[in-house]
Amino acid sequence: MKKYYQLSGEETLQDINGQTEPLSDSQVKEHQEKYGPNELVEGKKKTTLQIFLEQYKDFLVIILIIAAIVSGFLGDIESTAVILIVITMNAVLGTVQTVKAEQSLASLKKLSGPEAKVLRDGNVIQIPSAEVTVGDRVMLDAGDYIPADGRLLESASLKVDESALTGESLGVDKTIEPIQGEVPLGDRTNMVYSGSFVTYGRASFVVTDIGMQTEVGKIASLLKTTSEKRTPLQINLDQFGQKLSILILVFCGILFGISVFRGDNIGDAFLFAVALAVAAIPEALSSIVTIVLSFGTQKMAKEHAIIRKLQAVEGLGSVSIICSDKTGTLTQNKMTVEDYYVDETCVAADEINTQNLSHSRLLLASILCNDSTNIDGVEIGDPTETALINLGTRLGVCPEDVREKYPRESENPFDSDRKLMSTKHTMEGKPTMLVKGAVDVLMGRMEQIQIGAEIRPITEEDKKKIEEQNQAFSRSGLRVLGFAYKIVSDELELSLEDEYGLTFLGLVAMMDPPREESKAAVAECKSAGIRPIMITGDHKVTAAAIAKRIGILEQESEACEGAEIDSLSDEELKDFVEGISVYARVSPEHKIRIVRAWQDKGNIVSMTGDGVNDAPALKQADIGVAMGITGSEVSKDAAAMVLTDDNFATIVKAVENGRNLYRNIKSAIQFLLSGNFGAILAVLYASIAALPVPFAPVHLLFINLLTDSLPAIALGLEPHTKDVMKEKPRPLNESILTKEFLLKVGIEGLSIGVTTMIAFMIGYNQGGNALLASTMAFATLCCARLFHGFNCKSDKPVVFTKAVGNNIYLIGAFVLGIALITSVVMIPGLHSIFKVQTLTMTQLFTVYGLAALNIPIVQILKAVRAALFK
Ligand code: ATP
Repeated sequence: MKKYYQLSGEETLQDINGQTEPLSDSQVKEHQEKYGPNELVEGKKKTTLQIFLEQYKDFLVIILIIAAIVSGFLGDIESTAVILIVITMNAVLGTVQTVKAEQSLASLKKLSGPEAKVLRDGNVIQIPSAEVTVGDRVMLDAGDYIPADGRLLESASLKVDESALTGESLGVDKTIEPIQGEVPLGDRTNMVYSGSFVTYGRASFVVTDIGMQTEVGKIASLLKTTSEKRTPLQINLDQFGQKLSILILVFCGILFGISVFRGDNIGDAFLFAVALAVAAIPEALSSIVTIVLSFGTQKMAKEHAIIRKLQAVEGLGSVSIICSDKTGTLTQNKMTVEDYYVDETCVAADEINTQNLSHSRLLLASILCNDSTNIDGVEIGDPTETALINLGTRLGVCPEDVREKYPRESENPFDSDRKLMSTKHTMEGKPTMLVKGAVDVLMGRMEQIQIGAEIRPITEEDKKKIEEQNQAFSRSGLRVLGFAYKIVSDELELSLEDEYGLTFLGLVAMMDPPREESKAAVAECKSAGIRPIMITGDHKVTAAAIAKRIGILEQESEACEGAEIDSLSDEELKDFVEGISVYARVSPEHKIRIVRAWQDKGNIVSMTGDGVNDAPALKQADIGVAMGITGSEVSKDAAAMVLTDDNFATIVKAVENGRNLYRNIKSAIQFLLSGNFGAILAVLYASIAALPVPFAPVHLLFINLLTDSLPAIALGLEPHTKDVMKEKPRPLNESILTKEFLLKVGIEGLSIGVTTMIAFMIGYNQGGNALLASTMAFATLCCARLFHGFNCKSDKPVVFTKAVGNNIYLIGAFVLGIALITSVVMIPGLHSIFKVQTLTMTQLFTVYGLAALNIPIVQILKAVRAALFK
């Protein structure tokens, strides 16, 4: 049987679909059912049971299991049972958290999944790549990922990067001619393969294979599935946790030694040492980060920012420079043509006359040299181009009719480096090349000018007039495109060399108003210590006019053209960037240099991009941001964050979320560490003062594994506030565990420890009874930590403000915790299991009172700290 690359396009269509027309909707459904979804089957996902069992792999849990077995041998069956129950409940909690976090990450992945353009029932529509099926006709533009394997049907200068398959990083030129004989994959120039992407040109192809049947699917099992990388914060916390664990284990070892030396029961001493280790080691640190980040990303997705790399959330809080595109990000990308400049006169859009020769020629050129469509109000394509065809419709000229009358014979697609596009048509019997693009680029290529019916050589004076008009349009913030043409030879397939020696036709000026929210977002950036910078392919004067309106630029001198930085060395650029807020006419290479220069100056840089060539700059930036609506698939793949509304204000909102999430993680860590420290201090004091051990092992396990996790998670979900945007960006390499932070943890832990020991002493003195004393110490420690949750909500005093009740989860965790501990000490049936005795009402309220005392103490400390450091 012949291979598809040996057949013609038509033969391939016949072979696959039995017809050459595109598939109808019902045929598509049949094929989808027959061939399944266009997906690579990922490595097996873990089942919930596996996740549950993994909770037992934890080092501390293993120690606890050993402890349970030891106490079983020692005849303390109750302790064995309690430890096992507590471990199981902890594992259930861990499983629920892990599954939830995974679900939220998976749904994020779905949101930012790749898309493809297909021809269905005569219309081009955008669908998720997974829905592409065999026989579908897929349309490709520069920057698109190829969603499936297929045989090319049309190709306009198509170049494809197939490095993922062949290792060859140079773009491969594609054609549609059949190939004779057997050739290797890299030489099948009329085929395209899933996993590669379009670097230049346009094309359409018919899908021959999908999913695991594609070339990349066949090697998919060889590709390692990339596991989620740990974020810098998690790594930092893991390292801290490890060091702390060693310290605590040594401490517990010594305590165990002392007890044995004193002649205590070895089994009891061992159990206690283990329980203390479990209580003191903050094993939940890094999983709290995962949970908070994954819930945070859900919130961000709802606010139009999809996080593709979890690390980005942390980075967002540190962003100090936001480099943003202009068109569509700071502006609305809803372009409308405002003016024509033809026959040396300026014509407002509503005065354009289709009977006028020059007017209609410019209109025809702008419809023909144009890839966009607007079918029943559904616009597909670049808004610059849709503005041009919409003008035609407004003037009663149907773009489809024009395109049918003068079909496109050849083309040089637009690219943002060259800033030009040209197409070839037969007009008035002559093979004509129409060119449109940036005025400054066209100027140097013009040899003639057409005014009315007259064509004459273009003079310096003509050029000056055009340039002046271009400046005047640009100063009003209008985007200007120049149009020109050239009569070419009949057989000519256009190439880039043909775009010289042109005849000037006219200018088209269009308005793209700034987004309403841009101005406020820019102001917010500035108050948050973040510098907004505009980087655009547009004209300098247009860019500066828009930048001024939204507050990015104050002085004209803050705008420059990309070419100006070409002559600067990297060192010089570092000084230069400081004075520039608007870069115009930039190429993707300029973007990379600007990012690097700011990074070298110690900044965390966010950079937006949409084109295929922007991918390297997006990767270079700390937070690469792609446009969900107008961005190419390649740019989305390279980005850490995708904006589903293409809006600058969304980046600023994401920074705010990043800062809030970081603050919440810090609060949760503060809560865990200070509570654990309080417990250690209490034990240490009792040991030094030769008092009985204040807690039974089961107490410590109860607190650490049950009543502690929920408030910590709740703190991670603390409502976000605006005040984080009044602070300066946090240095990225700043550890969460600064001296100041640890000091705070130490002092708060001391407060918890002291109130716990006071309760212990009250109990001890009341009955000389170690059981009453330890019951009171246990209940106080547990309640004190629950109260302390409210202290950790903010660095500022919030407890006496309305904000105290704004976190429903924290209140829920508090109420549940208090209910649990109260039941344990008040329900006699639970006493022997939990090694407690019933408290009188006075004793119970003494416990509550002492625990609640941690609130005023810590609040006063906060006020003192605020007064000292202000
Ligand atoms: P930004 O970088 O802010 O998105 P931009 O859209 O102007 O701005 P590019 O798309 O790189 O950036 O366009 C660069 C220049 O090329 C434009 O200023 C315009 O002069 C010209 N241009 C843009 N789109 C087209 C097009 N479809 N055909 C021909 N020329 C175009």
